[in-house]
Amino acid sequence: MKKPETIKALKVSGYAPQTVKQEMRRNLVCMIERGENLFPGIVGYEKTVLPQIENAMLSGHDFILLGLRGQAKTRILRQLVRFLDEWTPAIEGCELNDDPLNPICPACKRRVSLEGDQVPVRWIHRDERYREKLATPDVTIADLIGDIDPIKAARGGHELSSEFTVHYGLLPRANRGIFAINELPDLAGKIQVGLFNIMQEGDVQIKGYPIRLALDVAIVFSANPEDYTARGKIITPLKDRIGSEIRTHYPATVEEGIAITAQEAWIQRDGSRLHIPKYVQEVIERIAFAARDDKKIDKRSGVSQRLPISAIENVVSNAERRALTHEEKFIVPRISDIYAALPAITGKLELEYEGEMKGADFVSRELIRTAVAKAFDTYLHGVNMNQVVQWFDLGGEIQLSDNAAAQDVLEGLRQIQGLMEKLGKLNVNTKDSAEMQVSAAEFVLEGLHAHKKIGRNEERVFTAGEKPVKIAEKPVFERDDSEFGRKRGFN
Ligand SMILES: [Zn+2]
Repeated sequence: MKKPETIKALKVSGYAPQTVKQEMRRNLVCMIERGENLFPGIVGYEKTVLPQIENAMLSGHDFILLGLRGQAKTRILRQLVRFLDEWTPAIEGCELNDDPLNPICPACKRRVSLEGDQVPVRWIHRDERYREKLATPDVTIADLIGDIDPIKAARGGHELSSEFTVHYGLLPRANRGIFAINELPDLAGKIQVGLFNIMQEGDVQIKGYPIRLALDVAIVFSANPEDYTARGKIITPLKDRIGSEIRTHYPATVEEGIAITAQEAWIQRDGSRLHIPKYVQEVIERIAFAARDDKKIDKRSGVSQRLPISAIENVVSNAERRALTHEEKFIVPRISDIYAALPAITGKLELEYEGEMKGADFVSRELIRTAVAKAFDTYLHGVNMNQVVQWFDLGGEIQLSDNAAAQDVLEGLRQIQGLMEKLGKLNVNTKDSAEMQVSAAEFVLEGLHAHKKIGRNEERVFTAGEKPVKIAEKPVFERDDSEFGRKRGFN
């Protein structure tokens, strides 16, 4: 069907103007009735965040998502375009996407009064109707709402105070669409006032000139919860005007976290060659969980879901590099690949004072070790590992470098009595590839090390329990620790 190309044709088609919020509500109602997946790819919010967003839209509210970083806030806001009509008519050439039957800008009003129903109509796709702005303290009224343009005034022969002389900012240009403002509390108070006036009254002052702009915009926001609730960060009338405050959260379970990470990370590379063991996924996910609980890490900024996502990408890459080097058939990540992925982890952690003192590397290694211990417990709880531990106590040693070829290490691992038969708990047996067996066996040894049953040094040589390790490497840390202790004592 051909879309109407003039106001006249549009009227004949039976088109009736609707506000953006009415339009979103109408589409949402249909989608709920049809039982559609409203927010594809958003995992773990089905019973918490998403119903609240739907309620906000059904209520016709402007709303704010409050949450720490990496909680899919921006992603959810971008998905709101799904609730707009696919195509929407606007007056051709209008900077504000004016509704052909209800123009608000002075230029279009004049044009319609002169040309009447012959004014041409342009159809806008919904993807063009979403705008977003990251709030920063230096955002001005001119950026967001507009400015008086003296050149425009001079050329058109208008007064400076005329509405014809306004150069429109981001918000007016988002007219008849959705405008998302991320990190709202970073917006200066004066700008918040301007924003409120536009939302509430449809008018605003630009350089002292009152400008009337009856915009039709669904405004949505995101913010860090602590910034948002801090006194004085948000002007009260604006806060009142935001209909719903919706809290986002990190994945509630490790399983949900794994699902999100698997969906977001770029890990499908050479397809069939790659096999990521479940315990490796679990350890990576548990690093984020452990970090969110760790007092050395800043609670206020949180630990983004991007940590496990970048980590697993780097883990797969390290395994890929090893497989390429040794011309191995399979790419099977190991726990040592997680340690090799520190560059994808350290930058994602905002450290508190104590963490800063110890350094991001040290803190990250501790987190990995904690994560390994927890994952070990889920897979190998109650399994008797005495025989393996004994082998090390009797002087056994083995080096498991992340660069070592699986076939080379496998021989050594087989010498450790009682080890390989325990891998059944990880669904790995002697018929599996060397890559799989080595990864699983190394996980067991890393788990025993995480539980301090056996030792391991910086060169990744596994040895007997803590005692010999203390002589080998501990004094360095102990000296450091006591130095921190003394320094802090004086503070
Ligand atoms: Zn217009």
